Amino acid sequence: MADTIALGSYFDNRWQMGTGSVSLINPVTLATLAEVRGEGLDLGTAVQCARSEGRNSLASMTFAERAALLRDMADALQNDRDHYAELARQNSGNTPGDVMFDIDGGIAALKFYAGMGKKLGNAKRFVESEHQPLDREGHWAARHIMTSVPGIAVHINAFNFPSWGMWEKVAPSLLAGVPAIVKPATSAALVSHAMIRTLTDAGLIPSGVLSLICGSARTLLDELDAGDVVAFTGSADTAAKLRAHPAVQIRGVRFQAEADSLNSAILGSDLDQGSETYGLFLREIQKEMTVKSGQKCTAIRRILVPETLLDDVASDLSVQLTKTTVGDPAAEGVRMGPLQSPEQREAARTGLEQLTAVCETVCGGDTPASLTGENAKPDCFLAPTLLLCRDPDNSNAVHDTEVFGPVATLMPYRDLSHAAALVARGKGSLVSSLFTDDDSVASTLIDQTAGWHGRLLWVDATLGKHHLGHGTVMPQCIHGGPGRAGGGQELGGLRGLTLYLQRTALQGQTDRLAAITAGDAVWPGV
Ligand code: NAP
Repeated sequence: MADTIALGSYFDNRWQMGTGSVSLINPVTLATLAEVRGEGLDLGTAVQCARSEGRNSLASMTFAERAALLRDMADALQNDRDHYAELARQNSGNTPGDVMFDIDGGIAALKFYAGMGKKLGNAKRFVESEHQPLDREGHWAARHIMTSVPGIAVHINAFNFPSWGMWEKVAPSLLAGVPAIVKPATSAALVSHAMIRTLTDAGLIPSGVLSLICGSARTLLDELDAGDVVAFTGSADTAAKLRAHPAVQIRGVRFQAEADSLNSAILGSDLDQGSETYGLFLREIQKEMTVKSGQKCTAIRRILVPETLLDDVASDLSVQLTKTTVGDPAAEGVRMGPLQSPEQREAARTGLEQLTAVCETVCGGDTPASLTGENAKPDCFLAPTLLLCRDPDNSNAVHDTEVFGPVATLMPYRDLSHAAALVARGKGSLVSSLFTDDDSVASTLIDQTAGWHGRLLWVDATLGKHHLGHGTVMPQCIHGGPGRAGGGQELGGLRGLTLYLQRTALQGQTDRLAAITAGDAVWPGV
């Protein structure tokens, strides 16, 4: 372990090393890459520094100045992009395609909010465009304004997106004027750590504006109080635990969760096996199951097809999935890498056991028979696995159990209402994709499934391949889903700032109110 890097944390304007040691490994070779020393950190000081110095810095800046800070951060990160890509390969087994989602996606989210903030100009708060008269004479009126929440933000992230998960939260938080303390998942902290290191080396983080806690940080919420915000991404179990914390339940800390979900794709009843849209459907399923080895919160877990096409789809998908080259992402031609750790592989095995109790295995189901790359050890690998459930009405596990890996379950539906009823069994999901060339099929499915989702993707022959896919979260669109998916809402342009803003009905004399809010940025009524 002589050459092992020790990962510290950044807060109170300096890097600090805690005690303890959690090893970060390369899931391909199982070699130790680094150790996180995250015990014994003074988390109270981290919160206090953000609350005082961080807030003051951001409060002194206009939206355009905060946007310029985001832009500078994005430019600095862009310069080191290849370094992070290498770390993502080592610590998470990412292929070059996976890197685009996490590293490039994270920098793109920063740039997007930098561009949006620049347009907000020299304002520091928002005002809604609608003026509300409150008396008949026109003396008394109200304007709804939106200002930064008075506290700080804690961002707790999942292991699968150490870059995107960090920046898609940091960008709206800082633009809204709220300093952020980021806690990446410990096992994948290498990329988050390196990115923050780039920014501190470049002197781009004003004191207290952005902090990084590497390690378990299990007492971080104890330090929070009214006016603070927690944005969490991870499993539904951890979300439930954090939601029950006294900081949230008693002290009124705002809490938003992006949790796991049993996302779906529906093949429309109008399509036949030879149609172009059927081909688009197969392509998308294969991509979704294998990108990031299925470790995407948005990945398709349930595939609903008309019962007459069930066996055709099973056979066509199986042919495509078994062609996937699995192995060391450093080796030529590898399309899919390992799961991120032996623990994730074990969790996937446990989940698969629950699903195979009610499903047939069409392909995969275990460690791939062969791995590409001479250094690849089998411990963290799972073959792309397609399951088939012939009786989804009476099989709870296929609607409840998220296997966080390259695993999806195919199931038949009788008619569109049945398809919608099966989708609803997921109890709220991030995204569903509808594949149909028929407007009436699309409209019926939209009506019957939209209420269960934060996003729907409709693919037809005219859209063809002109989209970035079911699993890609665009910063223009909201990300998050109801119910089991956590009930949160991130991104979506300015909507993403809502978590970090307080809306206040400002009442007063009509003309004076108009004058005092004249320089505010207009909230576009979203
Ligand atoms: P996880 O085990 O729930 O952990 C998520 C984060 O919470 C980690 O940073 C973890 O820290 C931290 N954590 C756990 N217990 C905590 C506690 N008591 N106090 C404070 N922090 C705590 O989830 P994961 O395994 O990292 O991620 C996989 C899950 O995330 C999947 O279910 C996936 O669907 C979901 N996910 C959802 C989205 C979305 O946008 N909806 C995006 C990505 C992933 P440690 O690492 O230190 O334990």
